[in-house]
Amino acid sequence: MMQTDVLIIGQGICGTFLSGELNRAGLSYVVIDEERSLTASRVAAGLINPVTGRRLVKTWMIDELLPFVRGAYGELGEELGAGGEGTGAGFLRPVSVVDFFPTAQMRLAFLKRFEEDPAYLRLPEDEHQWDELFHYELGYGIIEPCYLVDMRELLAAARQRMIERGVLRAERFELPELAVEPGGVRYRDIEARWVVFCDGISSFTNPYFSRLPFAPNKGEVLIVEVPGMSLSEAMVFKKGMSLIPWKEGLYWVGSSYEWSFEDAGPTVAFRERTEAVLREWLRVPFRVVEHMAAVRPATLERRPFVGLHPLYPAVGILNGMGTKGCSLAPYFARQLVGLLASGVPVQADADILRFRKVLGRG
Ligand SMILES: Cc1cc2nc3c(=O)[nH]c(=O)nc-3n(C[C@H](O)[C@H](O)[C@H](O)COP(=O)(O)OP(=O)(O)OC[C@H]3O[C@@H](n4cnc5c(N)ncnc54)[C@H](O)[C@@H]3O)c2cc1C
Repeated sequence: MMQTDVLIIGQGICGTFLSGELNRAGLSYVVIDEERSLTASRVAAGLINPVTGRRLVKTWMIDELLPFVRGAYGELGEELGAGGEGTGAGFLRPVSVVDFFPTAQMRLAFLKRFEEDPAYLRLPEDEHQWDELFHYELGYGIIEPCYLVDMRELLAAARQRMIERGVLRAERFELPELAVEPGGVRYRDIEARWVVFCDGISSFTNPYFSRLPFAPNKGEVLIVEVPGMSLSEAMVFKKGMSLIPWKEGLYWVGSSYEWSFEDAGPTVAFRERTEAVLREWLRVPFRVVEHMAAVRPATLERRPFVGLHPLYPAVGILNGMGTKGCSLAPYFARQLVGLLASGVPVQADADILRFRKVLGRG
């Protein structure tokens, strides 16, 4: 039998940060992750944007999250050997979002918000700076600082490190083989004090957690090549859709937010709609090189699911990051490790104990 402190199921952004935090706290772990190419973490643009919605209000906890993520990505980057020269933040880099106003109402909303609370907002010095590349009749505002996480590089580097340490099992986790006892869990040849589910949408059907109010949300994305465009890696463009540097001169364009869908795959309708938007928006030709889709592990009340099961204290979860995994996963991974290592409670509005009643019905 192999003994470990935590058995982590899933190596998306949640499992990756959980493993980093456990390391720092001196707790051991084994990760089981079946490599899938189209998971939420692999399809995500990696953007951390401090404002949201039509009224550009600050996102939940952002004043606290931004300094935290700078530190957390920096620490993980250092541990994985990605120094992030110039930013000191490993896989995270600062970017500015050029927010082209799609309608007159959106322009007004930006100006109003800027007057009331200019935090994270700026007006451009030269409204014509992007005339050669984009059509925009109503001007734009700038949102900064934002951050872009290189999710694919981060996940790959963390995975490589887990392989070197011999703590990764690249296979499918089979829930029926998990034995849960009050003092710990057993899975095949592994004995652990806790199992923590970081398995994204798989938790929706996990009998321990399927009663939590998950709200799956599908997102589709196009990866495009734009030969006439060589933009700074520090800029993200938005006009309804976002255009975000991806890799090797390619751009990520998306995404959709679908609460009701038949399957998780890419659709012709999204591709046609997005190509039409791009033709109207860009002044230069583009070519679609890839079309991807994934389901976000979102929640009805838009708050994460973190903590230990009220009936099975050896079973935990770090999930429900919705559209904001890049900023929420590091923060709540640290809280969960605080709970496991020192018994410090998770903050109440993220702790799954708020669903004690539904989870407690055996
Ligand atoms: C199109 C799109 C764009 C997005 N853009 C952004 C963005 O710009 N910024 C942002 O902050 N967030 C963004 N998100 C949201 C973000 O991707 C999610 O919040 C986050 O990735 C969720 O991470 P996770 O680790 O919980 O789940 P996942 O990334 O789904 O990881 C779960 C892991 O568990 C593994 N797994 C599942 N079941 C099993 C099993 N039975 N056995 C073994 N392994 C298993 C999977 O293979 C996977 O590796 C976006 C999401 C989408 C879909």
